[in-house]
Parts: sequence; structure tokens; C-alpha cells
Amino acid sequence: MSARPDKLLAADEPAPVSIYNAGGQSPFLLVGDHAGNLIPRALGRLGVAEAELQRHIAWDIGIAALGRLLADALDATFIRQNYSRLVIDCNRSLDVASSIPDIGERTLIPGNIDMSEANRAARATEIFWPYHNRIEAELDRRLRAGRAAALIPLHSFTPVFKDVARRWHIAVLYNRDPRFAQRLKALLDAERELVVGDNEPYTVNDATDFTVPAHAERCGLHHVLIEIRQDLIANQDGQQRWAARLARLLPLAYQQLLAAEI
Ligand SMILES: [Zn+2]
Repeated sequence: MSARPDKLLAADEPAPVSIYNAGGQSPFLLVGDHAGNLIPRALGRLGVAEAELQRHIAWDIGIAALGRLLADALDATFIRQNYSRLVIDCNRSLDVASSIPDIGERTLIPGNIDMSEANRAARATEIFWPYHNRIEAELDRRLRAGRAAALIPLHSFTPVFKDVARRWHIAVLYNRDPRFAQRLKALLDAERELVVGDNEPYTVNDATDFTVPAHAERCGLHHVLIEIRQDLIANQDGQQRWAARLARLLPLAYQQLLAAEI
């Protein structure tokens, strides 16, 4: 335990944010809000069984590896958050109940029930804000340098949620600005045998999302949120296949988008 009750991460614990290929020249900034499943030692596993912390309720399975492969293929920067969404969900506003969830699918999270305000504040200060401040700093740096930027949040979804199977292989999600998402969807639809979700099984909205509204919609940045079904990227073969597909289609969709603006 930390000597200071209001301090969450000890000096020897991993940083909340990892930057991969920081010097990447691609306009795409890849981000992984749910890419890790670490739990700060001070939280004692949140009272959740170890097997549960390996499931989709704790993180987006496959996204850390997919993000690195896609970053390599595109020469893009990939910024990811390393702690579990059960500690604090980095794709939720701090003022919504699911920011620090007390349940994940059907699993209760005892460590998140009746928390102190100091505990809640420490998670925001030490995990949520360092991650989002790092994304904002990277986007600011590009803006100042006159470089184009497009935000690509990468997520994965469980193939079965509350006993309901999901048929989509991949989905594009958006809210106020569908332009990039619709172009990428059209290209994915043209691939053989893919079932592509259009704002399914989730949508982007202000209650369930933070990253797109805060970093992209607010300043009119091009963006598309991508969700891939977890069983397709659970191993290296699948991760490589999907990274190669997205490395081929994302630049095409982006070129179409820019051409339409001329
Ligand atoms: Zn996610």
C-alpha cells in the first residue's frame, strides 16, 4: 500500500500510458482506451476473481497487439492506456456512473462499491487524465506543426454478451460526424464474407463515450472508432490479418474523405 492514502500508483508500477512509435509520420493517431488489464496494487484486485480479470469485462482483448501491428504497418503512433477499464473507464466522462463501474456484464466489482471520494479522484488524476492529456498533447503538437491528424480509437467486443451472440466481425462507430466511418464501412462491405456493423453493437454518444467527443468532435478532427470481435484477434495470426486489412483500407477511406473536401 502507498504511504499516502490519496496516492494510487506506487513508484514501481507501470505508467498509465504507453506510446508506441512516437515518431510515426502517419496522419492517423491510434488510441486504445481499454488496451490493458492492470490493476494498481493498492486496489487489491478490486475483489474480483483472477479469471474475471482476463475476460472482456476488464479490457479489450487483442487490441494492444493489433494496435502495435497496425502502427508498424501505417507508421502511425499508438497511444494506449494500460490499466483495466474496471479501475476507471477511459472512454467515459468522469460524471457518469459507468466511469468506475460496479458491475461488468454480470460480475460485481466489490472494490468499486462505496468508494471514498479520494479513491475516485486518484483514479481520475493518475490514470484517466494522464492518458487523455497525452492524446491532447499529441494532437496539439500536430496542429502546431501544420500536420494532418485523424483519430482512430481501437476497441474490441466480446463475441457473446449476456448469452446473445454477436454476428458482426467488425464495426464502425460514430456520432455527429459519420463521414470517415461511412467510407471505411463501404470498403469493409466490399471485402468478402465480412459482416460489418454500422453503429452496432455500440454507438458513440456523449453518455457512453469520452474519447471521440473530447478529442475529435470538439475540434472537427476526422475520426472513426473501430470495434473488432475479440475471437478474431485473440491470437497472432488474427491480429496480423486484421492489422493488414486495416492498414490497406484506412488510408483508402481517408484519401476518399480528403478528395471529397476539395
Ligand atoms: Zn473498448
